Amino acid sequence: MTEKLAGKVALVTGGGRGIGRAICQLFAEEGAQVGVADIDMELAKQTLETLPIPGRALQMDVSSKKEVEAGFSELVAHFGQLDILVNNAGILLSTTFEDCSEETWDRILAVNLKGTFFCCQAAIPFMKPRSRGAIVNMSSVAAKSGGFTGHPPYAAAKAGVSALTIGLARYLAPHRVRVNAIAPGVIDTDMTKTANHAELAARIPLGEVGTARDVAQGALFLASDEARHITGEIIDVNGGLWMD
Ligand code: NAD
Repeated sequence: MTEKLAGKVALVTGGGRGIGRAICQLFAEEGAQVGVADIDMELAKQTLETLPIPGRALQMDVSSKKEVEAGFSELVAHFGQLDILVNNAGILLSTTFEDCSEETWDRILAVNLKGTFFCCQAAIPFMKPRSRGAIVNMSSVAAKSGGFTGHPPYAAAKAGVSALTIGLARYLAPHRVRVNAIAPGVIDTDMTKTANHAELAARIPLGEVGTARDVAQGALFLASDEARHITGEIIDVNGGLWMD
């Protein structure tokens, strides 16, 4: 069987656990050399140990432009190129609307939206001159639904990710760099561990909460040459939770 990402170098943010780890694993299974970037270096190293081919762990808080630039430089110095960026790092902080502090609002926007912006900016110099590259951003069903009651700031940040995806896709299309996103529904990871999965599954038409691997399959498709004519698209991976 041909590996779908043979010869490619990918950087996955938030690769230390959950959906990001599943993406790192699937990409490596498909032949990619993967940079596992995470704010938690220990988690990144743990992911690295599960990969079938050697990758590289990168210390990176995506909300820090300095750390983002250093991480991208380290990866390209090591592997010589960058073909795929997955902006997966994200945080979900629950708060009532009235009690959401300025610090909480700023952190949610800084990691989910500004982090995606910084990483896209850092990737462009390695993709645009080569007229090749694929960026996959991580939006959410919340970008369309507004999220659960404690999550309007998160939903706003993810709506920003979706808009950024489309705008950047249009900008980079003449340079053959594709930009797409995935909008997961409810996925079984640490992020959703406090939620009642049985209750949520009952609201999902396909009858179950998704797995990190389900989302990784979507990322693989968008990152691979199978999606060579797709850009500016946001793919729902939500079991039918939101249909439009
Ligand atoms: P998770 O909390 O299990 O994992 C997130 C990873 O990102 C962790 O390894 C964490 O250390 C890392 N991270 C956090 N802040 C970071 C930062 N500033 N810089 C770099 N790394 C950072 O989350 P998950 O469920 O795997 O979610 C992954 C992505 O999918 C997120 O963008 C999330 O918003 C999105 N998403 C998840 C769900 C879900 O149901 N789990 C649904 C919709 C969207």
